Amino acid sequence: MTVMIDVEVWGSKENSKAIIPNCWICKDNGLVIYKKKTKDGIYEHIAHCTCPAGIPYHYDGRECKTNKSEYYIPSIADIADPAMIAKDNLAAFYKQNKGNDDIMKILQQQLAS
Ligand SMILES: [Zn+2]
Repeated sequence: MTVMIDVEVWGSKENSKAIIPNCWICKDNGLVIYKKKTKDGIYEHIAHCTCPAGIPYHYDGRECKTNKSEYYIPSIADIADPAMIAKDNLAAFYKQNKGNDDIMKILQQQLAS
């Protein structure tokens, strides 16, 4: 069984102008792409986020009643430390937008709350 994932969903959001996400782990995409190093090279994998945006991606082929498969989307929390990812994303966002006073103001408010 082939599982189709709509990659466009991520791309279109990525190109839009800076919006402060509710979730710094997946930036409201619901999915997190991470790289995993194996002896054959570095591969990109996906995991679903632990925030509400990630709920639609809680796919587990092993729990499907019909068309059982070994394929599933793991939770990012099982793979990496979500707090570290959030910190990295926040730092990158800050670097990208620090010249934008409006965004910085909203960001400070969000972090203070
Ligand atoms: Zn998230």
